[in-house]
Amino acid sequence: MRTTLLAANWKMNKTFQEAEDLTAHITEAVEKLNLNKVEVILCPPAPYLEMVLDLTDETHVAVGAQNINDHEFGAYTGEISAPMLRSMEVEYCIIGHSERRKYFGESNELLARKIDMALRFGIAPIFCCGELLPEREAGNHFEVVRRQFEESLFHLEEKDFRTVVVAYEPVWAIGTGVNATREQAQEMHAYIRQLILSKYGERVAQEAPILYGGSCNAGNAFDLFSQPDVDGGLIGGASLKGEEFVEMIRIAINCA
Ligand code: PEP
Repeated sequence: MRTTLLAANWKMNKTFQEAEDLTAHITEAVEKLNLNKVEVILCPPAPYLEMVLDLTDETHVAVGAQNINDHEFGAYTGEISAPMLRSMEVEYCIIGHSERRKYFGESNELLARKIDMALRFGIAPIFCCGELLPEREAGNHFEVVRRQFEESLFHLEEKDFRTVVVAYEPVWAIGTGVNATREQAQEMHAYIRQLILSKYGERVAQEAPILYGGSCNAGNAFDLFSQPDVDGGLIGGASLKGEEFVEMIRIAINCA
């Protein structure tokens, strides 16, 4: 059966001290829980990765980065490479977040190269896909997501694809307080699983974790996580509040 994942995307938030307190709060709570099949991943800002890795060492909390460059090394001031993350033992990396697509012009083609780079260095991509509001209103949301898969992921061999975690994040739901309904989420997750099935077959599709992201919080998490094709969440705003995120972990455990 599939693993349920709950990943925290802290984006560009928190001072070092605040991030330290939040990490300690979440990690201490997680260590008291029976996670069963649920995996918890913290994706802090890059300057805090080492601190979060230290505080979560030998616990049940994994660590992810929020971005990598598509080059292995070189003159790319301010960027972070996959070998750097690998050398710190970072396990995951968010790739294709809508904020990176929007503010940094990341295309599906660039994201394909980032995915390749992550996989080459043993880092599991958390691949974000999802449509803009006008695309949904025009009824093009399935087509948009299909193209994101075809152009960024479907060049992968089966063994590599199986390392990828998918996060469906409708852009109109991110940070807006308007989450997808459980019906909208389930419909798109089922569609994504069908896409994966048509490319890689039934077994890969059934094992692929597909997370939901977009204004998910402790109040709506049960509705979303209990859908048959929703395997947890990628959480932005609500993951910045220790108590709320821990409550969402409990909900994910109940739904797993
Ligand atoms: C995100 O940015 O990945 C996200 C899901 O944000 P929020 O939960 O704040 O909508």
